[in-house]
Amino acid sequence: MVSYLTGMRPREIQGLERGCCPDPESGRHLIYGRVFKTAVDEDGNHVPQGIVRDVPWVAIEPVVRAIRIVERMVPDGYLFGGVAASTMNPRIEKFIAWASGLAKKLDRPHEVIPADGYGSVGVSRFRRTLAWHIARRPGGLVALAVQYGHMRTAMSAGYASRSRNGIHDLLDVETALAVADTLASLNEGLANGVGISGPAARRAIHAAQHAPEFAGTIINPRQARALLQNPSLTVYENPTAMLMCVYRPDRALCHRVTERDSPRLDRCVPACANIARTDGHAQLLRQEAESLEAQAAHSPEPLGHRLKARAQRLREEADQHDRSRIPLEETE
Ligand code: SF4
Repeated sequence: MVSYLTGMRPREIQGLERGCCPDPESGRHLIYGRVFKTAVDEDGNHVPQGIVRDVPWVAIEPVVRAIRIVERMVPDGYLFGGVAASTMNPRIEKFIAWASGLAKKLDRPHEVIPADGYGSVGVSRFRRTLAWHIARRPGGLVALAVQYGHMRTAMSAGYASRSRNGIHDLLDVETALAVADTLASLNEGLANGVGISGPAARRAIHAAQHAPEFAGTIINPRQARALLQNPSLTVYENPTAMLMCVYRPDRALCHRVTERDSPRLDRCVPACANIARTDGHAQLLRQEAESLEAQAAHSPEPLGHRLKARAQRLREEADQHDRSRIPLEETE
């Protein structure tokens, strides 16, 4: 969990010591650890025992709780020092087997951990998984996703990004892959008659026409940055807000204070000029409205009233899409 939710490498996890995560003074939890891969002394020689990382890791609450538990179990020294790197992956597999066995025993088949099509869940995959979630699930759908949204900001704000050991490159690649996927599915949808609405609809259509140029081409950070720095191509799917962000920083309502290279999808503002919606998004709006109305029927006031009002707003947005949607042929 510590690796998955911070982006630390396995060796860095092993280098964590008791007291590495003091109670915060300003509300943000930070973990002070060592780096190994890039650890060199002033003469340029590699330091095998690692050096203290010049910027701390940003930690969210579940990570801090995990560290506190281990601190109670380990009286001194390295928190995970007794775990040999070679045994970490087999331990994860054993844990998966144990958790799935328990789920079956307790007659909770939906909690069985499914087999992974990419092979064993090794520790080296956690960093990439974190980057994937930050890029594709801002603010929703998976557990802890709201906090992932905060993590992108925290990383962009300087903690991980200032360090050569940060996961910024990985984030760029995952974000560019997500953008390329969004362009590809939009391009395919438009070709099949999907309609699009919103102030940024025409820019989205224009961007989608470039989708074939990027299919399968983004494999390294340089290629990723080339896509992300092209303002006419940066279209982000935002499943939580049920829209697409056709990003232009000068029009973004989610970043009034600082100029960043990516939108704050977890803080999307409904009046933004970068919004576009497809028929699929309108359908999502109606599904969400239905679900809120069902909840409202069983909720006490004033909560029930608020849920109904939100459902009503979502239906109005879906109706607005239907009235103003433009199919591809009208733009040609
Ligand atoms: S507020 Fe605008 S720029 Fe920010 S995420 Fe939403 S649509 Fe994108």
